[in-house]
Amino acid sequence: MTSLRVAVVGSGPAGMYAIQHLLEQSLFDVDIDLFERLPTPWGLVRAGVAPDHPEKKLIADRLFRFFLKRDNVRFFGNVEIGSDISHDELTASYDAVVYAVGASDDKPLAIPGERLPGSCSAREFVAWYNGHPDYRHLQFDLSGPRAVIVGTGNVALDVARMLTLPATALARTDIAEHALEALQASHVNEVIVLGRRGCQQAAFHNPELEELLHLDGVEVQIEADDLLPPEQTDADWDTRRKLATLIRLQARRVAAPVKRIVFKFHRSPIAVSGDTHVTGVQVQTRVGSGSPRSGLPRYGSPGSGSPGTIDCGLLLRAIGYRGRALPGLPFDLQTGVISNVAGRVMDGSVPRTGVYVTGWIRRGPRGVIGSNKQCAAETVGCLLADARAGKLSRRSDDPVAQALIANQRQVVSFGGWQRIDRTERLAGSARGRPRIKQTDIGELLTSAGR
Ligand code: NAP
Repeated sequence: MTSLRVAVVGSGPAGMYAIQHLLEQSLFDVDIDLFERLPTPWGLVRAGVAPDHPEKKLIADRLFRFFLKRDNVRFFGNVEIGSDISHDELTASYDAVVYAVGASDDKPLAIPGERLPGSCSAREFVAWYNGHPDYRHLQFDLSGPRAVIVGTGNVALDVARMLTLPATALARTDIAEHALEALQASHVNEVIVLGRRGCQQAAFHNPELEELLHLDGVEVQIEADDLLPPEQTDADWDTRRKLATLIRLQARRVAAPVKRIVFKFHRSPIAVSGDTHVTGVQVQTRVGSGSPRSGLPRYGSPGSGSPGTIDCGLLLRAIGYRGRALPGLPFDLQTGVISNVAGRVMDGSVPRTGVYVTGWIRRGPRGVIGSNKQCAAETVGCLLADARAGKLSRRSDDPVAQALIANQRQVVSFGGWQRIDRTERLAGSARGRPRIKQTDIGELLTSAGR
């Protein structure tokens, strides 16, 4: 059997499912090196999934970690492709390189005042409360009574919950210590969620919406012209379920509410107010019902309603992530993904031999953790087809290790990650928490035994 050496860049779900497909095929003997910029693996499973969703993180323990225990898989944590090792060095050393680097930028709102202090992306807020080392120093102004979230996707719901969950509930999670302290001291008691289309076009999923029914002390209000009993609409099944849940949320009476989430649909932000800091967001009502979520987007007529201002000290833009270009790889500026067809990286109409993408950097920031499995299957399918066709080759055997030594890089192995993992869990068990995350790179490297 012929052997294949593959580098996977990024250890989130997209990279881990690519590894699973490579391990499960029987055409080639495969050796896999997994490169991760942080000392810790699992990407958005660690730094994206909300702390109060521990069940969504189990995939790392129940599946992903077993791939890294295999003799033919090596983990290189704390190694950045593009600075510690160049793309060219990587392609020279491997038959194939699979980039699974996710989407680490934000879609812009493109309205005046968007960059004022106090206006942040939900992506940054999520990374902060999840203890991502790059975001641990951020500060969010939680001193005012109201926060506004733009967008009605699952990220908007995650963030709305984190801002309204009782402090005792937060303290049972693996939320980063700095975020726990800040949220415990928060004065935010009202969270407004703005949807530019109607509630029938909201992007959130029903299970995530249903969670709001169980938030202690939090009442939910819905302002939507198109909130109709499901049987009075011709909406699809998913939308009908969401309508039923929205109606239950609206009917629910909370005995002594301490916080409130208000959904305002058909409202678009047109400017952020404030001189040196956000003081409010100007919104315009949009009329027209739009199309069902599954149909073509129509946003109603802008300018047809009168603008008004919602006072707030914090504005979180949860309008979607965006991929970041990687040096040396073709990037589609319009869609924010590395140019590809079915996972093969493309220079114009020509596939770049041996270079592949999977996950959000391939298809855009859409889908849940499991969606990456099918995506990776297709990418790895292309890789294996190219290998079978004799198109893949490498120029040298293992100069990657030399490059890392030359760069004096402190590499974290899988054993190193297991030591970090044990340290975090131990610290957590002493406080009745699943883990206390280490968020400082130096501290992580020390725990890894570097
Ligand atoms: P998303 O689902 O794409 O939602 C983005 C929201 O922003 C939509 O409501 C969109 O409205 C709105 N929007 C976009 N541009 C806007 C603009 N210029 N002005 C106003 N609103 C705008 O994105 P996401 O919430 O970031 O989630 C990303 C992916 O991760 C999704 O597939 C999501 O399901 C997944 N995710 C899953 C979970 C979970 O499973 N619990 C948790 C978090 C994220 P339109 O619909 O009108 O475009």
